[in-house]
Amino acid sequence: MLAELRGLNEECGVFGIWGHDEAAQISYYGLHALQHRGQEGAGIATKNGKGMHVLKGEGLVNEVFSGDALKGLTGHTAIGQVRYTTEAGRGIENVQPLVFRSTTGSMAIAHNGNLINAKELKESLEQQGSIFQTTSDTEVLAHLIKRSSRGSLTQRDRVKKALSMLKGAFAFVVLTEEGLMVAQDPNGLRPLSLGKLGDAYVVSSETCAFDLIGAETIRSIEPGELLTINNSGLHSERFAQPGERAICSMEYVYFSRPDSDIDGLNIHMARKRCGKQLAREIKIDADVVTGVPDSSISAAIGFSEESGIPYELGLIKNRYVGRTFIQPTQAMRERGVKMKLSPVHQVVEGKRVVMVDDSIVRGTTSKRIVKMLKDAGATEVHVVIAAPPLVSPCFYGVDISTDSELIATGRSVDEVRELIGADSLTFLSVEGMLQAIGRPAEMKNCGQCLACFTGEYPTEIYADTVLPHEKELGR
Ligand code: SF4
Repeated sequence: MLAELRGLNEECGVFGIWGHDEAAQISYYGLHALQHRGQEGAGIATKNGKGMHVLKGEGLVNEVFSGDALKGLTGHTAIGQVRYTTEAGRGIENVQPLVFRSTTGSMAIAHNGNLINAKELKESLEQQGSIFQTTSDTEVLAHLIKRSSRGSLTQRDRVKKALSMLKGAFAFVVLTEEGLMVAQDPNGLRPLSLGKLGDAYVVSSETCAFDLIGAETIRSIEPGELLTINNSGLHSERFAQPGERAICSMEYVYFSRPDSDIDGLNIHMARKRCGKQLAREIKIDADVVTGVPDSSISAAIGFSEESGIPYELGLIKNRYVGRTFIQPTQAMRERGVKMKLSPVHQVVEGKRVVMVDDSIVRGTTSKRIVKMLKDAGATEVHVVIAAPPLVSPCFYGVDISTDSELIATGRSVDEVRELIGADSLTFLSVEGMLQAIGRPAEMKNCGQCLACFTGEYPTEIYADTVLPHEKELGR
């Protein structure tokens, strides 16, 4: 749905390329394809025989790299990032890639995810003399690599050693003198894929970037893998024993573009199957099915196909609302819903409408859309959500940091229904979602992170965290 309005945001997308004469230009297109993962900052770093070059700024990719900005980014290898920032992470200094120069060589790093132990590592590094220039977790890796440089380790070994000290969710692209290094956390929480463009190798948070640049997808980066790409080709090794694979379920539900694939499954098809599964789980007497644009359309089509209720375009998204109008505050969010969405009166008037959405975070947006449809003449609005209820915070780089923001935490489905003013409310079951994505129905070892639906986290989390179900027990 509308990321800026609902407060459910991915924090970044990363891209990298090795072995192409137009590395910066290709990265620019790659970042364009990843723009939905972050609109508040973008950057590209390149490397040639003389060193590193970097250009980054706040804003959209085409704003940061306007005019002939790419001209100075020479070299046959590059990394880049698009960024969504949380309140704590604002400021140009946090826009990536971060470049570090030292007498032993330069290094550029971009990252997607969130380190659970960043605070402890920072404190320990500061005690050893490190000074941090940003509030970004990414800088921690650079300092760890530098600290590991004592002794006769190769750069790859130093990166491996540093990565093994990190806990949480991370997909790193690191440009070093030895090559382009790509790493995925031991649970593979954030998506990261490898592709090939002619003789060049590319990596990206999503495969939709490969389609845009004409690259073919090779495979996902494995949990715990450090992949080094240089003139000798590919070198894959483990910096950690792979844990239980737990890719973020919200990538399938909401974050990834419908034309991306994760683990070989197309996102549009996965969402459509979630919609079909929902229609098997609930029977609703209605006249028309509509999806909240954009990410719910696939599920709405699936629901319509399976239920036999016709799909119609009941809600239209205004694509030309400038980013600057949408501020991450509750008041602006509420105003923003009206600016961004309009009902199609002729479709909904006098009809019983099934409104398919991908998730409910605070509930404010759902409530306003239900009201919008009713004001447009819908006689009934049945909300069906193509995912289970969000009840627990995410510690892995998705901006749902407190469960107090989540309308479903501590409330029954009927209580949520009443708050959003719907005639009925149905969520997809966890088992149904797993089945639709093609995973085993058993939640344990299913290959997905389900933590925001179940409160069961695939890694250790912050030591002082009290989870919603623990609060209920008075802890
Ligand atoms: S907690 Fe939810 S949003 Fe966070 S990584 Fe897991 S599935 Fe994704």
